[in-house]
Amino acid sequence: MNSNLHNETLCIQAGYTPGNGEPRQVPIYQSTTFKYATSEDMGKLFDLEAEGYFYSRLANPTCDAVARKIAALEGGTAAMLTGSGQAATFFAVFNIASCGDHIISSSAIYGGSFNLFSVTMKRMGIETTFVSPDCTEEELQAAFRPNTKLVFGETIANPALNVLDIEKFAKVAHANGVPLIVDNTFATPVNCKPISWGADIVTHSTTKYMDGHGASLGGVIVDSGKFDWTKYPDKFPGLCTPDESYHGVTYTERFGLEGAFITKCTAQLMRDLGCVQSPQNAFYLNLGLESLPFRMKQHCANATAIARFLESHEKVAWIKYCGLENDKYYTLAQKYLPGGSCGVISFGLKGGRAAAETFMKYLQLGSIETHVADSRTCCLHPASSTHRQMTDEELDAAGVGADLIRLSCGLENAEDLIADLKQAIEKV
Ligand SMILES: *Cc1c(COP(=O)(O)O)cnc(C)c1O
Repeated sequence: MNSNLHNETLCIQAGYTPGNGEPRQVPIYQSTTFKYATSEDMGKLFDLEAEGYFYSRLANPTCDAVARKIAALEGGTAAMLTGSGQAATFFAVFNIASCGDHIISSSAIYGGSFNLFSVTMKRMGIETTFVSPDCTEEELQAAFRPNTKLVFGETIANPALNVLDIEKFAKVAHANGVPLIVDNTFATPVNCKPISWGADIVTHSTTKYMDGHGASLGGVIVDSGKFDWTKYPDKFPGLCTPDESYHGVTYTERFGLEGAFITKCTAQLMRDLGCVQSPQNAFYLNLGLESLPFRMKQHCANATAIARFLESHEKVAWIKYCGLENDKYYTLAQKYLPGGSCGVISFGLKGGRAAAETFMKYLQLGSIETHVADSRTCCLHPASSTHRQMTDEELDAAGVGADLIRLSCGLENAEDLIADLKQAIEKV
């Protein structure tokens, strides 16, 4: 599809163009398998010589249509859906890093990704060095080893809300012959397109704003098609030498730079590990995507109004939102997120942990959930819920102080939300 089209158009039209007399909406292909007339026909699919569907663990037309839409939105060449954001992160990394390899990640990332890298992938023999998202080029460079295979970061970190200097990270990654993978969940392609700033691979938890209604878990991996694996065949043998488990195909030769990464990810990782998205959930995700640009505008407008209210409230000790002029990340946000960032704010009340607990107890519209980035406003006090086993010292070290409240601003009316926050703060 024409890449000059705007987000609003791509969100509606990209990925699926019905033929004459075919369904206008993307059909749900609720089928595990697909039928062929001859074994020869099917053999060609297995040899990756012909395109077509044979088993929904490897590919499904509904999932593919939605993946094409997201690829178009991110400005990538290929994409695949996964059953969750965690699976997308794991597959994106494991597709190019194996036992004995090393990766570099920003330390300000989603807790699940941090655990995946620091515990589970470590058990698989992949070591991670965490760097500050605010590190200098020299500090980032110093983290590289001969066996480093990639650099990873989040556009807007969940829950730390740091904004990543994507160009800086891409520059140092490329100087070392490795790709930059960016988790773009909080910004969405509506507010930032990391590939246009040099990122090579983009991942998402589509569970958040993309689905947007708290209805279905999911993830996606988008490849820019720009990283030239063939310049570093020793570093990326999985993409540049024959895959004996797949009929001796060399992915970069057969599918070009635009298709190699995602085809390998599908043919090897989805084949062997599953983690597939269901056609039904892909359909819900697609409905969410249709209104994404409009919802993001409203999430950001609500968050900005609420951030301004909190910033000026005498009982608020501090607030983090990169849309505020005196936020540490305001300048980076102006560069990478000029149209808005996201709907998530973090703040602390004077009176710390006890004040946070009282405030949360009296909230009426904002519900207490471990979820974020949804149409419904929700709120979390990590110190008394997700992080409750940690001491105050451990909480500070993790960047999640005992007083931190994470507020995900939904799509309700901003005045109603502010009135609710106001009455709850007054109880403190
Ligand atoms: C939620 C989240 C994930 C994990 O996604 P799931 O869909 O819950 O598996 C990954 N990255 C970020 C930034 C997230 O917010």
